[in-house]
Amino acid sequence: MKTRVCRLYGQRELRVEEMDVAAPGPGEVLVAIGAGGICGSDLHYFQDGGFGPIRVREPIILGHEIAGTVQAVGEGVDRVFPGDRVAVNPSRPCNDCRFCREGLRQHCLNMRFFGSALRFPHEQGGFRDLLVAQDFQCERIGPRTSLAEAAVAEPFAVCLHARSRAGDLSGKSVLVTGAGPIGALVTAAAAHAGAAEIVVTDLQDAALAIASRMGATTTVNVAANPDLLDRYKAEKGQFDLAFECSAAAPAVHTAIECVRPQGTIVQLGVAGDLPVPVNMLVGKEINLIGSHRFDAEFGEAVRLIDSGAIDVKPIITASYPLEDALAAFEIAGDRSRAVKVQLTFAETAA
Ligand code: ZN
Repeated sequence: MKTRVCRLYGQRELRVEEMDVAAPGPGEVLVAIGAGGICGSDLHYFQDGGFGPIRVREPIILGHEIAGTVQAVGEGVDRVFPGDRVAVNPSRPCNDCRFCREGLRQHCLNMRFFGSALRFPHEQGGFRDLLVAQDFQCERIGPRTSLAEAAVAEPFAVCLHARSRAGDLSGKSVLVTGAGPIGALVTAAAAHAGAAEIVVTDLQDAALAIASRMGATTTVNVAANPDLLDRYKAEKGQFDLAFECSAAAPAVHTAIECVRPQGTIVQLGVAGDLPVPVNMLVGKEINLIGSHRFDAEFGEAVRLIDSGAIDVKPIITASYPLEDALAAFEIAGDRSRAVKVQLTFAETAA
């Protein structure tokens, strides 16, 4: 069997090519991918050949936000059947290391994560017509949910994990800095958890308009109207909680300025080193919390999307067939026009 794949050979060197795919073995599932979202990390690999210390050192098939239709199952698989439509969890923790045994599987010491250049050899990803996954990675969806929506389960799971790191949001005032896909989805997660006020900041009006549709009560374009933040900085800060989704130094500064004393900042945006105003962090006794990937939240994300409790459609701003992957990556890098860009595959056309 042959499959097309979208493989990165180095900075801006993206090729769509064919390779062999084996029949699914015991415990494995052959999935015809229908939709795949381009993530910030895919973009960093494409634009810069990596991010921070993580570099692309060999050709890598990108993609980890994927959903498709089961084509065949291997021996012993009874979780899904041919014809089932599934969101595919890109995480394959070992279930045996110290952190897996502690229930912190997102910190698995032997984690294999689709489309990641963290380890060498790199983990190959899901931008391909046909993919072999483990059965436990497949979460079934109902007939009303599109594969495009199901492919948003992965970034939404990241946001649900961040939400659980934040604690109870009910009645809280929340700041979200950065209205990309994660900012928009964390806004939806906060609204779903009963946050009373959600203010979202960004530099782009188009992204902020989508954040409004996802549940923002107020949006602030900090490029056009930085003064609008002044009222949130007053009296040592107004927000109970901030989700920092941009990894931009000015936004980190804003979050620390606008969160109230003993408030909490959940850092979701990822960058290398960033300057942090430690004096203010300490003086206001702010809790600065990191949030990394997800574990059981993947299944929760699929259920919230599949039940219609969360509508992720507004964030999907464009989709391109696999053969136009280069154009898709170019547009995904243009924040004035794109929030989430997806690829479609042979299955979508069939
Ligand atoms: Zn492990």
